[in-house]
Amino acid sequence: MDALPALLLSALAMTLIVGGRYLVVSGGFAMLTAWRFPGLYGGQRRQIDREIRWSLASAAIYGVPAGIAAWGWQARGWTQIYTDAGAYPVWWIPLSILLYLFLHDSWFYWTHRWMHRPKLFRVAHKVHHDSRPPTAWAAMSFHPIEALTGAVVIPALVFLIPIHAGALLAVLLVMTVMGVTNHMGWEMFPQWLVQGRAGKWLITASHHHRHHREYKCNYGLYFRFWDRLCGTDKGLGEFDHASRDPRASRA
Ligand SMILES: [Zn+2]
Ligand SMILES: [Zn+2]
Repeated sequence: MDALPALLLSALAMTLIVGGRYLVVSGGFAMLTAWRFPGLYGGQRRQIDREIRWSLASAAIYGVPAGIAAWGWQARGWTQIYTDAGAYPVWWIPLSILLYLFLHDSWFYWTHRWMHRPKLFRVAHKVHHDSRPPTAWAAMSFHPIEALTGAVVIPALVFLIPIHAGALLAVLLVMTVMGVTNHMGWEMFPQWLVQGRAGKWLITASHHHRHHREYKCNYGLYFRFWDRLCGTDKGLGEFDHASRDPRASRA
């Protein structure tokens, strides 16, 4: 097939995959929320409609660089994605997953802080913060400018850093699940983890919820590394329904 139609087809396929993945994962965690905390999203119907519309538009934006990377991998062999597990030492698999997550997190932290500058915030980032409080549907609720900054990261990395296809799937799984659950409005991870030593470095809903409430803190995506290094980490937040949830977090 000619390059252009093949590229367009690849972008379309990736858009459908990203959009479908969003609907399934956000829908699944919204159902879990309805079961765990009935009525938590009560009165947020209009906000959820908006979150879904922005998220599906974001899926189309995410689909383009993902489609280019997928086509470059399959048709041209341009990427560093490998399927022969013996091509690199076995320790590279976990290390590459961590490295991808750390680089994604670093990119997110700095672009996120940048988008909190007043002018850019109004144009590009307000859409995401219009979710007050966010729901499981807010995972990809971004203005197209913000969606574009998020969409290019992993597709760019696969051209630069070797990763096994299975490890890449693991990265995408973490990205998807954390993107949804960090906005879900309650903490699904156990207290021993969130409040424990690992929790001082990992971002879950308790941490990101506070960003949505206070704006000028807790900018990270997966790790608290940059927030702690740059003094923007304010610790864990509380949920409004904390009194109903014995496991809810304290700062
Ligand atoms: Zn958010
Ligand atoms: Zn923000």
